[in-house]
Amino acid sequence: MTCLGARLRALASVLVFSVRIEDFLSMNSTCDAVTRLAAELIACPSVCPEDGGAQGIIADRLKGAGFDVVGLEIDGIKSLYAVYGKSGPLVAFSGHSDVVPPGDVEAWMVHPFRPEVREGKLYGRGAIDMKGPLAASVIAAERFVAGLSPDEMPFRLGFIVAGDEEVMANHGTLDLLAHIKESGDCLKHCIVTESTSQKVLGDMAKIGRRGSMVGELVIRGIQGHSAYPQLASNPISKALEPLDSLAKHEWGNGVDGFPPTTLQITNVRSGTGAANVIPGELTAVFNFRFSPEFTAEALQAKVTTLLKPFDLEYSLKWSCDAHPFLTQEGTLSGILAKAIKTKTGLDTEFSTSGGTSDARFIAPTGAEVIEFGTLSGMCHQVDEHVSVADLQALASIYELVLDGFVDEYRAIK
Ligand SMILES: [Zn+2]
Repeated sequence: MTCLGARLRALASVLVFSVRIEDFLSMNSTCDAVTRLAAELIACPSVCPEDGGAQGIIADRLKGAGFDVVGLEIDGIKSLYAVYGKSGPLVAFSGHSDVVPPGDVEAWMVHPFRPEVREGKLYGRGAIDMKGPLAASVIAAERFVAGLSPDEMPFRLGFIVAGDEEVMANHGTLDLLAHIKESGDCLKHCIVTESTSQKVLGDMAKIGRRGSMVGELVIRGIQGHSAYPQLASNPISKALEPLDSLAKHEWGNGVDGFPPTTLQITNVRSGTGAANVIPGELTAVFNFRFSPEFTAEALQAKVTTLLKPFDLEYSLKWSCDAHPFLTQEGTLSGILAKAIKTKTGLDTEFSTSGGTSDARFIAPTGAEVIEFGTLSGMCHQVDEHVSVADLQALASIYELVLDGFVDEYRAIK
């Protein structure tokens, strides 16, 4: 896209944005601060790599509250880091401003980027994942810092907001963590504002996730005529026993609340299309879902060991897109459990179920990291919506967590 084209597109998106958000505000003139900010963010069509103005809204709000804000833009991906306070450990909210594509816009009750409140629910792409919870964290932070000057803070409050979590996730959070490290800092506690609740707000938070790794095994043979097998080497026949031994192997018993590690063969392909030709090679793809009982390297080494007894000529390629993590119960889990109990009366369950999030990048830094947010059921769906009451309650819980850290670190100070 040319520079002029990019400018025209940005101008058009600002004009469309202001029309949409004015519509929303005129229809919802009395709506609360969290819903209003969530709606402003939803009105930004931030399907990665586009940002649609979402990062700028968050940056302006945090700057207005007294945060120091650093915006990054690397390979077209915008992200931001913000911090408030002068000394003490770094406690941060981690979120993302991008959303998944809406799919067929006609299938939606409301336009996915023209937020609407209907019967106590805010509709729009990102209402749950995660512009609603992100707005709740920003409003909680605004309220919290309004009562405390930077000098009075016994800890520092940070924001890590990525613009590419839903797609590549190869910049955003990783770049921001690198920025924190390069500035000689380190993250102590982090709440990732992904939606984790199941039936009611507060019933579940996530303290870990399984890892995911894909192996692609190519077994080589010699192509030939099926009438003359003595002149060929059949990679399909060679693959049967080794694949069976991988599929039947038991990969541990699980650990610390994680289910046992599994390997599933997800694709096997070979053949030339002709029934009378022995193919030259076979490709098998398998997917590990693994607990912290194993490292990716240990699983790779074990697969090599299991293949060793077989007379195979092969190559094996690995891609590990998520390492497992587990945060042991500690300061943050205690403070969060108490905040949830205070606001909802619930004893939250700390779980390791579900897919991946940017917490997988934060945990290896040594930070205590927990995911907690609204109900996850409508994530990525048509007519994505969130309860307005839940968003307000979530902001209160986040604010109670920050109060909890004041008590924690003031006592230490
Ligand atoms: Zn998300």
